[in-house]
Amino acid sequence: EDGYFKPQMRKVPTGELMQPSRKTNGYGVQAEDTRICVVMVGLPARGKSLIAQKVVRYLGWLSIPAKTFNVGQYRRSNTPTPTAEFFDTSNAEGERLRRVAAEAAVDDMIRWFAAGSGIIAILDATNSTKDRRRWIQERCDAEGIETLYVESKCDDEDLIMSNILEVKTTSPDYKGQDPEKAAQDFRNRIKNYEKVYETIDEDESHMTYVKLINVGKQVIINRIQDYLQSRVVYYLMNLHIKPRSIWLSRTARFLEYEKLEWKALDELDSGVCDGLTYAEIAEQYPEDFKQRDDDKYNYRYLGGESYRDVVIRLEPIIMELERSENILIVTHQAILRCIYAYFMNVPQERSPWMEVPLHTLIKLTPKAYSTIEERLKADIPAVSTFREKGSLAKHQ
Ligand code: ADP
Ligand code: PEP
Repeated sequence: EDGYFKPQMRKVPTGELMQPSRKTNGYGVQAEDTRICVVMVGLPARGKSLIAQKVVRYLGWLSIPAKTFNVGQYRRSNTPTPTAEFFDTSNAEGERLRRVAAEAAVDDMIRWFAAGSGIIAILDATNSTKDRRRWIQERCDAEGIETLYVESKCDDEDLIMSNILEVKTTSPDYKGQDPEKAAQDFRNRIKNYEKVYETIDEDESHMTYVKLINVGKQVIINRIQDYLQSRVVYYLMNLHIKPRSIWLSRTARFLEYEKLEWKALDELDSGVCDGLTYAEIAEQYPEDFKQRDDDKYNYRYLGGESYRDVVIRLEPIIMELERSENILIVTHQAILRCIYAYFMNVPQERSPWMEVPLHTLIKLTPKAYSTIEERLKADIPAVSTFREKGSLAKHQ
């Protein structure tokens, strides 16, 4: 229950308002001089693409450049709508075309690293045989790229069937096809993979890997070596797929429920500018005002924080939100922008400028490859605390 990064909590009597306080950052995010290829492993419909996509979003939010290379997408350029027989390993032409796709993905990944800023690549494919993994290992070793294998194993037939219905029948592989037939074909595809699937075992004990069994019910980790690898593994360990929503809002006073206060949710610390209006900041600190307009994400208030600083202190909160089920977070505008940006994958240039109005509930519901947003406005008049780029927001 008590994870290492669990945020500090205090029970707040119902109705008490949360008071902002000064604090410094807890810790920074180390993006060392490493390059890691995360190699997904597992039968189809085991959540590999979902996991890959979430890891990329999480790392991007932390400013760690990450990119997915999905072999299925490369394969679609030579075989857009394969039937199950294509994935039968006795089908020589199928084998050749799959190999071509895997090589194209790995070549692109290596080029992406060579181009400079990439830190974590995710090779999203089944990579379900030892032979295939050996080949990937050789390619990465030759380029000085670390490998971290992430195997997702799941033997819950009902879950696999619902995964197929949730994401596979609408895959471009089955474009224009009857969903029932698509689901049947996909099950046959899985059967073909099962014939040759080799789980990661003791022969591969020299490799760095994590095995997620039945959606994290059991997690096996082996030879995790450095900071970034351990961050990724820790993130994976906290994921669950139970249906739930995350509710965000800025007013809690009238909610007659028990509340927990998380100190990491304090508003962005505006340092010497605390308590000043935007017009006063523009008058007293004109250069700062301009710098903040020019690069709001990175601008750090004198004696205060930037959005970048806030994201770092919110990381344990994100981990806690991944672990939780239905939850309502009540906090300030800048903090909500950062949390919202994580779930909705909003780029850093845009996230500090988003409008998060008062007296509004934002409901976020994570789905397989995206998050659904709904906004519910209470009929309560409120001032806008939103300021557009370049404006003084004098009316406030
Ligand atoms: P794959 O890439 O392995 O073919 P997908 O990522 O396309 O699979 O499958 C997404 C589905 O898998 C979603 O319905 C999601 O709820 C489910 N899922 C996510 N994580 C896991 C997991 N660890 N084990 C089994 N199913 C999962
Ligand atoms: C695919 O072609 O959809 C695919 C995932 O390929 P592989 O099994 O080679 O990873």
